[in-house]
Amino acid sequence: MPEAEFWELPINTGPIPEPDSEFDCIVVGGGPGGSAAASYLAIQGKKVLLVEKGVWPRDKICGDAVGGKSLSHVSALGVKARLESTPHFRVTGIVFSSPNGSEVTVPLPEEDVARLEAGYSLPRQQFDWLLFDRATELVIENGGSVMQGTTVTEVYSEGDKITGIQVGIGGKRGEKMNFYAPWTIGAGGDRCPVARKIVKEMAGQELIEKMHYCGGYREYWDGVKGCEGDSGNIEIHFVEGIIPGYFWLFPLGGGKVNVGSGLVFGLMDKKKKKLKALQADVIANHPAFKERFADAKMIKGTGKGWQLPFGSPRKGRKNQPRKAYASGALLIGDAASLVDPFSGEGVGNALVSGEIAARHVIENKGGQEYQDELWNALGPELSNSFKMQKMSQRKWLLNWFVKKASKKPVIQEMMTEMIASKEAQENLHSKWFLVKTLLF
Ligand SMILES: Cc1cc2nc3c(=O)[nH]c(=O)nc-3n(C[C@H](O)[C@H](O)[C@H](O)COP(=O)(O)OP(=O)(O)OC[C@H]3O[C@@H](n4cnc5c(N)ncnc54)[C@H](O)[C@@H]3O)c2cc1C
Repeated sequence: MPEAEFWELPINTGPIPEPDSEFDCIVVGGGPGGSAAASYLAIQGKKVLLVEKGVWPRDKICGDAVGGKSLSHVSALGVKARLESTPHFRVTGIVFSSPNGSEVTVPLPEEDVARLEAGYSLPRQQFDWLLFDRATELVIENGGSVMQGTTVTEVYSEGDKITGIQVGIGGKRGEKMNFYAPWTIGAGGDRCPVARKIVKEMAGQELIEKMHYCGGYREYWDGVKGCEGDSGNIEIHFVEGIIPGYFWLFPLGGGKVNVGSGLVFGLMDKKKKKLKALQADVIANHPAFKERFADAKMIKGTGKGWQLPFGSPRKGRKNQPRKAYASGALLIGDAASLVDPFSGEGVGNALVSGEIAARHVIENKGGQEYQDELWNALGPELSNSFKMQKMSQRKWLLNWFVKKASKKPVIQEMMTEMIASKEAQENLHSKWFLVKTLLF
């Protein structure tokens, strides 16, 4: 047996707190968002309780691509050097293909790649382990507590103010304990109990809105042709069979590849098969992929599906994408429905919202001010991505755009810029800019 790597080992989270203890802030969920929020709070000396249902080491169903936006937080939290010491795939570009087989490669900005700020792909088990381990260290150093294998089973409120939680030790049927704090951050992902309380029970909104929700399916494979090496392109393919969703190949280094598919819930009804079966068809029969998978092997037990709550703007709604606060509570990451509706990236927005929420707790603000700051920071990008997602649902437009882009370096440069900078993304708002770039 090879020796286990450190991210395959348990994390010691120390003793559990006394029942009914009080904290400055309770953070529900120890994914990237919760780990970041807890760390930023602890760095400022706050006494935090971080509660996570899973037990480390734990897997998270994902495409495993970590963009440049995430890396600045990974640096700020002091995890970058350790992350870089573990195996990963350095992303230098993104390949897009359209249903008729046209293909374009969009390089990531060279300066970002050179400064190691462009993007990686690495298994979430590894990435999340590093962030949770760091959060554990910072929280305990600053007088707080961390609980894993502990499920939040109830969120308490007095009037309209959220005041604390009930947890089940070892799972929802385990021994119950209560904890209290003036602030609670909901970072429990798609099934976050704090989101259920704020969005469903208090605001009376639906948690799952079919046109703003995506199904995702992931498998790990070894030996897919064209995915060798430890740096290069990740691939997004709008292939017949899966469109209007897409099929991805994200190499992880060492010949291992994350292979997956995603499709908006509301569009899934038109398909007769589930994503798993659609993906199996593409791998076995699609002319562009069957050769590449001919000698490849799927790693047993890795085929799993999960949901992506998109941050696409909801028509006519004041709180975008949905209400992310109550008195004494804030939602972040997937719990606040912040996944990019075009790329499916959610880790970056979980980290960004984790930092914003921690700041609001430290400054004792929150409320609509939090929602506004969140949407100011993420809204323009999420709105553009929603437009791109809608464009990509039109097969002829995809075919036309990818063919045009494959022949015009200026379009490739525009796409590189768009990935890198917010200003360039705003150009997409200008129809004239788009028409000029595409046609001339
Ligand atoms: C198939 C698929 C592919 C994806 N690909 C990518 C990609 O390539 N790149 C990217 O950036 N994003 C991707 N995403 C999105 C990304 O996974 C999420 O946006 C991201 O994980 C959000 O982080 P988070 O911290 O908000 O939530 P999560 O990572 O979901 O973490 C939530 C945590 O809360 C815990 N929890 C839940 N309920 C409770 C409870 N009751 N009590 C205590 N703890 C609880 C969970 O165990 C979990 O650890 C993908 C998602 C899917 C499903």
